[in-house]
Amino acid sequence: MISHVLPTYNRFPIAFDRGEGSWAITADGTRYLDLGAGIAVNVLGHANPDLVATLTEQAGRIWHVSNIYNIPQQEHLADLLVEHSFADTVFFTNSGTEAAELAIKMARKYWDHEGQPDRIEILTFEGAFHGRSTGAIAAAGSEKMVKGFGPLMPGFRQLPFGDMAALKAAISDKTCAVMIEPIQGEGGIRPLTDDELREVRGLCDQTGALLILDEVQCGMGRTGRLFAHEFAGITPDIMMVAKGIGGGFPLGAVLATEKAAAGMVAGTHGSTYGGNPLGCAVGAKVMQIVSDPAFLAEVSRKAGLFRQRLEGLVAAHPEVFESVRGQGLMLGLKCKVAPGDMVKAGHDQHVLTIAAADNTLRLLPPLNISDEDIAEAVARLDRAAGSLDG
Ligand SMILES: *Cc1c(COP(=O)(O)O)cnc(C)c1O
Repeated sequence: MISHVLPTYNRFPIAFDRGEGSWAITADGTRYLDLGAGIAVNVLGHANPDLVATLTEQAGRIWHVSNIYNIPQQEHLADLLVEHSFADTVFFTNSGTEAAELAIKMARKYWDHEGQPDRIEILTFEGAFHGRSTGAIAAAGSEKMVKGFGPLMPGFRQLPFGDMAALKAAISDKTCAVMIEPIQGEGGIRPLTDDELREVRGLCDQTGALLILDEVQCGMGRTGRLFAHEFAGITPDIMMVAKGIGGGFPLGAVLATEKAAAGMVAGTHGSTYGGNPLGCAVGAKVMQIVSDPAFLAEVSRKAGLFRQRLEGLVAAHPEVFESVRGQGLMLGLKCKVAPGDMVKAGHDQHVLTIAAADNTLRLLPPLNISDEDIAEAVARLDRAAGSLDG
């Protein structure tokens, strides 16, 4: 008999009852060190007192109003995002998937608005993940996500990730947009180099194609910069953000330049919940904390510490690990064992990690993880890897 919850997930037999900073705690009091953070969501850890206070205060005031009214909390969060990014304008969603949908719609609408309605092809990349809507699965085009769900939305073409020659050959003045993660998350913590990202931007500039960056996983301070593309010194035309932006409250956003958003006039898009006062109050608090240069400098410092110790871990377990990769606190351990085995061995040591494609174990801790917890994390990963040593 089918479970009452649709069985689309492979779940581990663990349930958490509460959390405290970088720790998730079961009902019987067992403490797990959380290096997954709800998949890069809990950027300020669990039960962060500032976020709890902000949410509670707003919850006692007003939770939800329709977007047919002005929402000051939404305007405030949009102001913060515009102030700290390339963007001129922001639309709020509840998730990364919805942000992907709008990014796709906005790019197509741009060309329609420019009098080129046939300019619909969006170039995307193998190993990409943009969400689970029909548009987002068509964009990523991975076999496991699209099989049986056809016909797919037309207009996407997948290229090998990081293959600049393939991009150069595929892009033209008929291309609508290029949509790419600066660092692939689900794909296995696979970064583009700064040079590659600059080249992608350059090819978009030459052809007029819009550059859509998916920073749902790598954005919001995860890399030690507020947004990952800042390292390359380029800016996109459209960007998707979600995961970390609400610190655990479901929230997403599409950021865009005025030019890219030119077609999105009243009536062209909307959402019932997107940008509600509760989500935006929490999001503004997250932004206020995470966009602080001192906070971001701490992320980079801790990332350096973590990475150095992970290099030691890889050296100590050459039969389990191959290398460390990633940027900031978006780290991957390329494994020689199945990453799922390492996840389970971690559970035995009460440390939470996440498997990704390309045989990679993902480490995405809260951005405010303490130095002590980083040391503890590496000690636990060391014991977990030890249990898998040949
Ligand atoms: C998680 C993710 C998404 C989808 O976000 P949801 O909130 O799960 O809809 C899209 N893009 C990237 C890069 C992601 O990591």
